[in-house]
Amino acid sequence: MEIKKEKLEELSERMIAEKESLIKIINEFAKENKSIPNDWNARFPNFNTDRILDEEADEVEEYSSLLSIEKVLELKIQNLTNAIERINRGEYGKCSLCSEPISMARIELIPEAKTCKKCKNNNSKLNVAK
Ligand SMILES: [Zn+2]
Repeated sequence: MEIKKEKLEELSERMIAEKESLIKIINEFAKENKSIPNDWNARFPNFNTDRILDEEADEVEEYSSLLSIEKVLELKIQNLTNAIERINRGEYGKCSLCSEPISMARIELIPEAKTCKKCKNNNSKLNVAK
């Protein structure tokens, strides 16, 4: 199944817009790593040594949750970047594992998806088995 040029342009625009808004969000709490593309480091809060320990523990906890949000956003930005590149290279829409076309329904839902639904499901099962 070939994806029409207009559809690819629409998907590309959608993903570029999504990527930009995610970058805005991640920049609110993390610093971009200039030496690695699409890599951010959550800013560690400045500890005040005069503070009581409980408060410091809260800050560490807050930092850990920022770190996991940062990882999720970073992965999503990376996936969007890769998908936009696949469109530009004319390789978009094929499953990276079985090379079968990814269904349009899946593409509409997750335009940055790398794999078809079948491979995705197989992969999740494998991960659960581990
Ligand atoms: Zn597949």
